[in-house]
Amino acid sequence: MDAKGKLKVMFLPFPGQGHLIPMSDMARAFSGRGVRATIVTTPLNVPAIRGTIGKGSDLDSDSEIEIVSIKFPCAEAGLPEGCENTESVPSPDFVPAFFKATSMLQPQLEHLLLQHSPHCLIASAFYPWASHSAATFNIPRLVFYGTGVFALCASECLRLYQPHNNLSSDSDLFVIPHLPGNIQMTRMMLPDYAKTDGETKFSELLKAIKESEVASLGVIVNSFYELEQVYADYYEKLQGRRAWYIGPLSLCNQQQDKGKRGKEASVDEGDILKWMDSKKANTVVYVCFGSIANFSESQLREIAKGLEDSGQDFIWVVRRSDKEWLPEGFERRTEGRGMIIWGWAPQLLILNHRAVGAFVTHCGWNSTLEAVSAGVPMVTWPVSAEQFYNEKLVTEILEIGVPVGVKKWARIVGDSVGSEALEKALKRIMVGEEAETIRNRAHKLSEMARTAVECNGSSSCYLTDLIQHLQSIARLQNCPKSSV
Ligand code: UDP
Repeated sequence: MDAKGKLKVMFLPFPGQGHLIPMSDMARAFSGRGVRATIVTTPLNVPAIRGTIGKGSDLDSDSEIEIVSIKFPCAEAGLPEGCENTESVPSPDFVPAFFKATSMLQPQLEHLLLQHSPHCLIASAFYPWASHSAATFNIPRLVFYGTGVFALCASECLRLYQPHNNLSSDSDLFVIPHLPGNIQMTRMMLPDYAKTDGETKFSELLKAIKESEVASLGVIVNSFYELEQVYADYYEKLQGRRAWYIGPLSLCNQQQDKGKRGKEASVDEGDILKWMDSKKANTVVYVCFGSIANFSESQLREIAKGLEDSGQDFIWVVRRSDKEWLPEGFERRTEGRGMIIWGWAPQLLILNHRAVGAFVTHCGWNSTLEAVSAGVPMVTWPVSAEQFYNEKLVTEILEIGVPVGVKKWARIVGDSVGSEALEKALKRIMVGEEAETIRNRAHKLSEMARTAVECNGSSSCYLTDLIQHLQSIARLQNCPKSSV
């Protein structure tokens, strides 16, 4: 029991940067409202979370966030030792073992629920058993998908209406039934788990996720209502579930915190700021494909050629350390106008610099929303997960990006895109009248995002409403553990 009678919320993020980072930001947002936040994770993910929350610039001493670690059962699940994060999964063959390991965390979590007696559990959707655990302790569970609500609606409409089942070829276009916006896709763009006939391990997991959502109090979405209004309303109608739009969560970071999210950056903050300061506004292209997507050497060479031929200045994040695959003389020829970050970039810091004029992105939801918040137009290059839906939102609904032309969903390793396609998309997003129109739209959305998280903005009000709701549940249950 909290001696001060504060609301206590436990956060259980899925061990991938796409969940760890926004849920750390979320814990900060709750903590900033006087909630006692505890984040549960595995030992190797503690530094990443500590890095993201440990700055304390906007937190007073009263609002510390506790991090508690539990063991990740690598050996028991058939994973190499130390594979505690989606980034360290050695190959797609190990993905099922990774999910198996996450499914084995329930007893440890329940032990913590008993020890800490929180008033609410906020858990990533990939832990369907979390609703049951919360119910056992008579507390509400909230689901965090880590995606926007457009993607939730699109995948739900596909699951319910299966429009992709009666097509003559994988490249035939079909409209997603009942989804507002006349969104067209092909079978090739769909995740393999969405189109396999019959039950697979992953489709079983998805079914369990849906059932656990039904048993939950509702969904927390890292987005803001105005960004996806039509789909937020549609989701509530479609699912009949409550959702709280409390993002963009990354906006809780002050300038000095922006370089320290997820992992330690592989580049000195001062060096990169100095380099960007030397550039004119909107002249640099930032290229980064998140924490999981992997490209072949031939694909990387095409990217290098596309960047070089486009004539644009660039910062390119490459998640490897060897250089042999780089085209002969590339670094010499692009010296001064291009920078490669080998490893992890301070993405939020870069996106928010005035020099950045476009973002070539894999459309991971966090990256997408960070670009929206910073007012940066996008070249969309989706790879896997729900990224093809996010591409549709960016290019067709919000109209703040242009597609590079990826045709096929791939697990981890990306589709092949030629250098000319990248060069063409870069010119389209960086120069000319269309680029100007897109940039203006992106700036307007950025202002809307900032307004949403300010006092009386929609996200701020949603957060107030959620906290009050949780407090009243805690009071109604007459929990001896609180006087909230
Ligand atoms: N990120 C970063 N530096 C990098 C790569 C990624 O800070 O070099 C952050 C990025 O800002 C975002 C998260 O990692 O917050 C990636 O999440 P996203 O949903 O975009 O993609 P995922 O990694 O889950 O595919």
